[in-house]
Amino acid sequence: MLSIVIPIYNEEGLIDDLVRRIVSALEAFVSDFEILFVDDGSEDGSLRQLLDWQKKYSRIKVLSLSKNFGHQAAFTAGLEYASGDIVGMMDGDLQDPPELFKEMYRKIEEENFDIISGKRSGRKGKNSRHFYTFLFHLLFKNIAAVQNMENTGNFSMMRREAVDALLRMKEKVRYLPGLRAFVGFKQGFVDYIREERIEGDPKMSLSKLFILAADAIFSFSRLPIRMTLTLGLIGTIVFMFAGIYVLVAKIFGFAIIGWSSTLLSIYFLGSIQLVSLGVVGEYVYRIYKESQNRPLYFVKKFYDGNPPK
Ligand code: UDP
Ligand code: MG
Repeated sequence: MLSIVIPIYNEEGLIDDLVRRIVSALEAFVSDFEILFVDDGSEDGSLRQLLDWQKKYSRIKVLSLSKNFGHQAAFTAGLEYASGDIVGMMDGDLQDPPELFKEMYRKIEEENFDIISGKRSGRKGKNSRHFYTFLFHLLFKNIAAVQNMENTGNFSMMRREAVDALLRMKEKVRYLPGLRAFVGFKQGFVDYIREERIEGDPKMSLSKLFILAADAIFSFSRLPIRMTLTLGLIGTIVFMFAGIYVLVAKIFGFAIIGWSSTLLSIYFLGSIQLVSLGVVGEYVYRIYKESQNRPLYFVKKFYDGNPPK
């Protein structure tokens, strides 16, 4: 069986289109499937609409979370509740074309891949978010300690073994595309053009997007902490020489009263210290998150179409 996991947060304007399109895309190549919508605490009519569909169509299941936990947590919840032998993931705004699942499925079934990720070869429309995403992927590709990450998002399909491996990583700060690349197995790609959202505004605000980027970088690269160390070392060496110079100047009596150089070095050192503290703080915050060990999400109800026991 094939499961497709789709997180939904305040998307009432597009659920009907979404359901129709994904159902027809799946019916075109597979007979046994489930579509698992994760309602990530929507405040609009999304849940009601999903439940209407769920009553009409037994292949639709709805996992309703107790509040908004964010889209990485929603995907994780969906993966945990999905029962398929093969599991696909896509966004609910149809930016990822569900028709592509057919090709992903074929690659898994016929070419023996375990994980197929959608690789964005381009994007439709112009938008400042695209620029930030581009910058992030450029940076991440060069510093991340995982391979083959370039331009992939959540859009993907995995064999059960890979899903289970992914779910064994219990970290609270999660960047799923990174974790997916990390698990290994035989990984492949399909190229696609990322569409524009069919309706409404992005539900990942810019600030959520930046936090996700920071989570990705801090959990898959040691560059930030290395950088502070390197800066510290360079600073030490530079100031050692400066110190010698000051001593020599003092001894030979040509020291001048220079407040500008003093001020400059205070500013310079001060800002390096603040930045380094900030970087250390990011790690401490994430360590704190992990040690709290709070569940990633709470389920209000799972509407899986089975009669109540
Ligand atoms: N989403 C979610 N919880 C959130 C934010 C977003 O479940 O807190 C869902 C949203 O409904 C959509 C998907 O995650 O189906 C991707 O969101 P969006 O399109 O806003 O993100 P982007 O396209 O910028 O990655
Ligand atoms: Mg989107």
